[in-house]
Amino acid sequence: MKMRKMFLKPVSFIVLFCLLLQTVGAVTATRTNENTHKEFVFEREIDREKAQLIIDYLNGEEVVEPRSILCIFGHSLATSTVYETTHRYWAVSPRCIRVTYRVTYCTRSSCTYSAYTVLSDARLVCCV
Ligand SMILES: [Zn+2]
Ligand SMILES: [Zn+2]
Repeated sequence: MKMRKMFLKPVSFIVLFCLLLQTVGAVTATRTNENTHKEFVFEREIDREKAQLIIDYLNGEEVVEPRSILCIFGHSLATSTVYETTHRYWAVSPRCIRVTYRVTYCTRSSCTYSAYTVLSDARLVCCV
């Protein structure tokens, strides 16, 4: 699956426009054969490397966890809401999927600690 460059800007109005959510399972749909692509939007400004780390993590990639020596006594934690949109996932409208994560991560550059919870998962009208 081809990954699109992430967007580090705060949630734009375009994203809000996309929030025409519809309930999952309302339509019986089949998967599309087209190339789907994912897009990640971070609610707040975040260091580029950190953002990539979180994206890798959300994509299920193995993330080694070399902790900063400073983290022995606890991480320097921050949280952000991350919107993962998978475009053209389904063959019929609503075609796209929006998963909203609450991500907690360590802000120290040498530490890769992060954890997430799924806040919501919905199909949205975005691509036609
Ligand atoms: Zn840490
Ligand atoms: Zn879309």
